Amino acid sequence: MVGSKLVALLAATSLFSACGATAAEMRVTLLGTGTPTPRLSAFSASTLVEAGPEKLIFDFGRGSTIRLFQRKIPIGAITAHFITHLHSDHVVGLPDMWLTGWIGTPYGSRKTPMLIFGPKGTVAMTENLTKAFSEDIRIRIADEDYPPEGVAFAAKDIEPGLVYEKNGVKVSAIEVNHGDKIKPAFGYVVEYDGKKVVLSGDTKPDDRVAKAAEGADLLIHEVAVIDPDLFKTYPNYRAIEDHHTSPEDAGRIFAHARPKLAVYSHIVFATQPPTQDVPEDTLLARTRTTYQGPLVIGRDLMSFVISDHVDIIATKPLTADK
Ligand SMILES: [Zn+2]
Ligand SMILES: [Zn+2]
Repeated sequence: MVGSKLVALLAATSLFSACGATAAEMRVTLLGTGTPTPRLSAFSASTLVEAGPEKLIFDFGRGSTIRLFQRKIPIGAITAHFITHLHSDHVVGLPDMWLTGWIGTPYGSRKTPMLIFGPKGTVAMTENLTKAFSEDIRIRIADEDYPPEGVAFAAKDIEPGLVYEKNGVKVSAIEVNHGDKIKPAFGYVVEYDGKKVVLSGDTKPDDRVAKAAEGADLLIHEVAVIDPDLFKTYPNYRAIEDHHTSPEDAGRIFAHARPKLAVYSHIVFATQPPTQDVPEDTLLARTRTTYQGPLVIGRDLMSFVISDHVDIIATKPLTADK
């Protein structure tokens, strides 16, 4: 694999607040590579980007707190949170991240407002969540004496462009095309110390992603493989397929952008007969019809360490707390 080498690590470090990236590195960890399907091996969309002192989360799919716990990273230590769009498989884990990150434990203990950026509707969602969980908040402040600031939100509805800049890390939103009724939907570009990571978010093939990812170290892109036989029984799959990117089109985006490494995450697949696991052979074969460069099919808890090259750290997802 050009510019990359595979390093298999079966265990993470054993203490909370484990180090992420070293000073000049970026480290990207796939916390959820899946979709709404409640699959143990692939939780729904979430990605962690560590750069210098910054720990940034992109989307909060189901189980993102569990994956952070497996990585020994305190939920309360996340410095900023970004939402691509408001489909449930990208935000259903937000209440958990927010409230569990506040509890006074080694994995929580947030003491300042939760900083969160997302498309129009993000601020309203945080206000409504605060109402929905008002009893838990009231009880825990009265009973466990947690700081009210730690359960506040500092939320912002964003527009495309630079949305966050701190400690040398820049995060920009780009608009992507997730379908006419799902607007706005964003991808994100994260830059640090001359390195660049691009997340497509959920999107149909969109040249804006390819352009943003020109010269990127890492392009994390969604993909969908749907067996047409399913359209007869579940016509909704047509709409689902139409909102996403086929492997052939993703390959075209990769070929245009030429990142050091292309990674599939948010892998939508529906096959007849159903399979439990990603049909990797089909996914790769279809992508290889349009793209021959470095490519990895993402798995939960896979990490990428970016220095002058990209190392892949394939951590086996743990199913028990050890
Ligand atoms: Zn979506
Ligand atoms: Zn999605």
